[in-house]
Amino acid sequence: MICLDRAEQGREGPWLNYARMPTLRTPKTAVGPALGVPALTFRAWFSAQYGAEAWNALDKIPTPMWMAYLCWYRKVLDLPVRNQTNVTDIAFCDNG
Ligand SMILES: Cc1cc2nc3c(=O)[nH]c(=O)nc-3n(C[C@H](O)[C@H](O)[C@H](O)COP(=O)(O)OP(=O)(O)OC[C@H]3O[C@@H](n4cnc5c(N)ncnc54)[C@H](O)[C@@H]3O)c2cc1C
Repeated sequence: MICLDRAEQGREGPWLNYARMPTLRTPKTAVGPALGVPALTFRAWFSAQYGAEAWNALDKIPTPMWMAYLCWYRKVLDLPVRNQTNVTDIAFCDNG
């Protein structure tokens, strides 16, 4: 499996590009892409760096911070993403 993205590494998605809202809309407590693993949550990532007090004080997640979390998530899971690769077509292979 591989994920192709035309953006350069760390610039995928809307967060550092066309996102105009300074924060996410989703509450900070939503589990996001953590796959049910507490150590992979935004909360774990945030609290490890800034502490429990900062977590309690945080309202909505700033969009650049969400992008930083996603970059960390990609790194710790060693996700197979190939950047700066533009998908121009999709086709079935011979065996379907
Ligand atoms: C300001 C803002 C706040 C938001 N807040 C929330 C929120 O709180 N909660 C929520 O759930 N959602 C929110 N969203 C919506 C958010 O955009 C999506 O939830 C999320 O980004 C969807 O992820 P995705 O990977 O499906 O698509 P995207 O994040 O849009 O990623 C698509 C990727 O595909 C790449 N790509 C596109 N075309 C090609 C191609 N032809 N070849 C190769 N690569 C290509 C792009 O470079 C991009 O990196 C918000 C959006 C904005 C702008």
